[in-house]
Amino acid sequence: SRVSSVTIPPPACMLLPLEVPNRYLFGPGPSNVPPRVLAAGGRPIIGHLHHEMYEIMNDIKKGIQYAFQTNNHMTLAMSGSGHAAMECAVFNVVEPGESVLVSVNGVWGERVAEIAERMGAKVHTLVKAPGGYFTNEEIEKALAKHKPVLFFLTHGESSAGLAHPIDGIGDLCRKYDCLLLVDSVASLGAAPLLMDQQKIDILYTGSQKALNAPPGTAPISFNDRACHKMFNRKTKPVSYLFDMTHLSNYWGNDGKPARDYHHTGPVSGFLALRESLAILAEKGLENSWRHHKEVLVSRLNGAVVSLKDLRLPSVTTITIPDGYEWKELLAYMIKHHQLEMTGGLGPSIGMVIRVGLMGYNCSTSNADKALAALSDALKHCPKRKA
Ligand code: PMP
Repeated sequence: SRVSSVTIPPPACMLLPLEVPNRYLFGPGPSNVPPRVLAAGGRPIIGHLHHEMYEIMNDIKKGIQYAFQTNNHMTLAMSGSGHAAMECAVFNVVEPGESVLVSVNGVWGERVAEIAERMGAKVHTLVKAPGGYFTNEEIEKALAKHKPVLFFLTHGESSAGLAHPIDGIGDLCRKYDCLLLVDSVASLGAAPLLMDQQKIDILYTGSQKALNAPPGTAPISFNDRACHKMFNRKTKPVSYLFDMTHLSNYWGNDGKPARDYHHTGPVSGFLALRESLAILAEKGLENSWRHHKEVLVSRLNGAVVSLKDLRLPSVTTITIPDGYEWKELLAYMIKHHQLEMTGGLGPSIGMVIRVGLMGYNCSTSNADKALAALSDALKHCPKRKA
């Protein structure tokens, strides 16, 4: 039979205009993107291998070095979301059969444990309930017992609303010849973190939280210890796309005179990321940290789960008042206030509602708006008997 014509008609939805609501994104991400960053992402596309793009990527590297407080040369942005950075870190520094220690006190440790397990690592976990944290003594005991090549810790546990202490853990990892990998997707720019001073070997974040860029790019940095491990491995990393041998060349970090084609980076995403890093540099990290804390303390303190000084200033957890169905509260706020909060994630599902006021969104007026929407929802949603 002759193949001659299309049989599937254009879908009716494609003949209608694109509809996107204006919404307050007060959940754990993505956060609202300020006009300046949106505009940067709307600039003309240029080639991902044009020299102007290399300059923009060099700017991004400097912006990340500032945001991370690191002098690491091996600094870049992943073409992908926070998960791309998680996988890149694990895939490049761990070889199959090696021991990895993952702290699990919410969903992010669970994810990293699974990523490491999938690539054939021997995974050991240190487990606490959501919102729990690990003492340096507990960490040291586990390092001594499992002799991992990599220890993973979430700085901003967005599923539980906890900012984990970091001081001293880098020294412990060095003592046991282990790399320290820290997730700062939900905390970067909102809570103090100093990559070099705190001896973090690998640090990554996301674009869509306190940086207020669109989702889809993820800053990451490796220090010399991490580079030594990942560039002296016996096996190739399981991922071609995330292989740091290629990515370091693409970002001009490998000392070679030319950057070769590896993949086509998300040009618009990088333009927007550059602008969001510029805004953070203009505002100043310390101002940004202080601002997030002030909004939290002045507005949300009474409402949130008590985590004392360890409360994450970017994403806070509110205990679901007795007798309410959390999904109904969230649906009410979206419908009547165009305002998003979210429920728990992984082990915190059903326990909390999460409010994120990050970067551009972090203001006392937005906090008041969020609390007013929640109290309106509590007034109008039916209360069930426990
Ligand atoms: N880690 C943390 C702490 C996060 O909050 C998130 C996103 N909610 C991620 C990792 C994953 O990032 P992404 O959704 O961009 O892949």
